[in-house]
Amino acid sequence: MTTLAIEGGTPVRTTALDHRRGVTRIGPEERDALVEVIGSRSLFRYYGPDLREKVAGFEAGVRARLDVPHATATSSGTAALLAALAAVGVGPGDEVVVPAVTFIATVNAVVESGAVPIFCDVDASLSLDASALSASITPRTAAVVPVHLENVVADLDGVLAAAVGLPVIEDACQAMGATYHGREAGTIGTMGAFSLQLEKNITSGEGGVLVTSDEELHWRALRYTDQGGQFTTSHGSARGGERDEAFVGTNLRMNELTGAVAGVQLGRLDAVLAAMRANKAKILDAIGTRPGMQPRAAADPAGDGGSSITWYLPDAQVTGRFVAALSAEGIPCVTMYDGLPVYATPSIMQQRTITPKRSPWARHPVPVSYRTGMCPRAEDLLARSVTVGVGASYTAADLDDVAEAVGKVADAVLGVAG
Ligand SMILES: *Cc1c(COP(=O)(O)O)cnc(C)c1O
Repeated sequence: MTTLAIEGGTPVRTTALDHRRGVTRIGPEERDALVEVIGSRSLFRYYGPDLREKVAGFEAGVRARLDVPHATATSSGTAALLAALAAVGVGPGDEVVVPAVTFIATVNAVVESGAVPIFCDVDASLSLDASALSASITPRTAAVVPVHLENVVADLDGVLAAAVGLPVIEDACQAMGATYHGREAGTIGTMGAFSLQLEKNITSGEGGVLVTSDEELHWRALRYTDQGGQFTTSHGSARGGERDEAFVGTNLRMNELTGAVAGVQLGRLDAVLAAMRANKAKILDAIGTRPGMQPRAAADPAGDGGSSITWYLPDAQVTGRFVAALSAEGIPCVTMYDGLPVYATPSIMQQRTITPKRSPWARHPVPVSYRTGMCPRAEDLLARSVTVGVGASYTAADLDDVAEAVGKVADAVLGVAG
């Protein structure tokens, strides 16, 4: 057996592997689009000396690509979630059900909207467990937010059945282009939020987009992102009915520089997904099934966008050794979210907002408390998870290195495969 790099052996890789997605494909087209907007001096989406309508073009592209009637570009994925929560009417006194496993932004958006997050355990795909959802729903539940982590879509049939009568906001921030039984992630629930942050499938550094088939919710969300309808109503071609329903919004708009990059990147989405899916299949094929490495499940494996591979190992200790050894071989890998459910984040566990006056927990009609052990499957699976990135621009040699390193570490840490 070859000596592990962590024990002084030669690492499989000595040059860095970029496991990221759309960002690896940024090129002259993005630059040209930016130069065009700078040249136009029209950096604001609604007017300017020579408006190029890059944000509007990006929205039109999203509508076409995802086959969804309405899209609102936003300043971030979190902004898209905030606008969705506002549009469906979430506010103080409400509860919003979120999975125990997600990026903190999902939970922060709920808290910032004034509602209390209620954590539901996950299934073997690390997504909201539809069979546990009804136990998390109370008369105060105002929305359910399934999250599609790493391009694996949650069991939406199960979630929608359990959430009947409630708005379902898909947090598809990590899953643009992933599908669920042939339908686009983000277009199946009431509304769907995507992020364009650097780590996501396509990127403009920051940015997001919110989609829906519901025209009324679309207008509410759009106007929320635009100070209640400042420019969408007075400068845009369409009118949002602001005379019937006046409300306070904020500014979550996207600018033209971001829109220019986002529009070009959207055109790369299919190539990015095709590359990640093919790369993931090749790595899995080369590794094969291994004792002690249980693959993460998926409600619809065919829809997986392929951005990473997660296995569950026998216990947390072995997992720690595996991740340390594989990292030493030069392969990007992590224990997902450091092995912790999102409610273990101190701000959430201790229910702290920037000032107590802003606490949704303090003004909630019933006490809500969180504790370790609350969602046991999430805690167990996360602690035993190894996630290996699958880059959109990996070469054949990169794929060989990933597979070789995983095999080498599995042999040493889990015992030689039989
Ligand atoms: C990235 C992400 C967000 C937030 O997106 P930003 O664009 O960074 O605001 C929300 N939810 C999940 C699951 C994410 O991964």
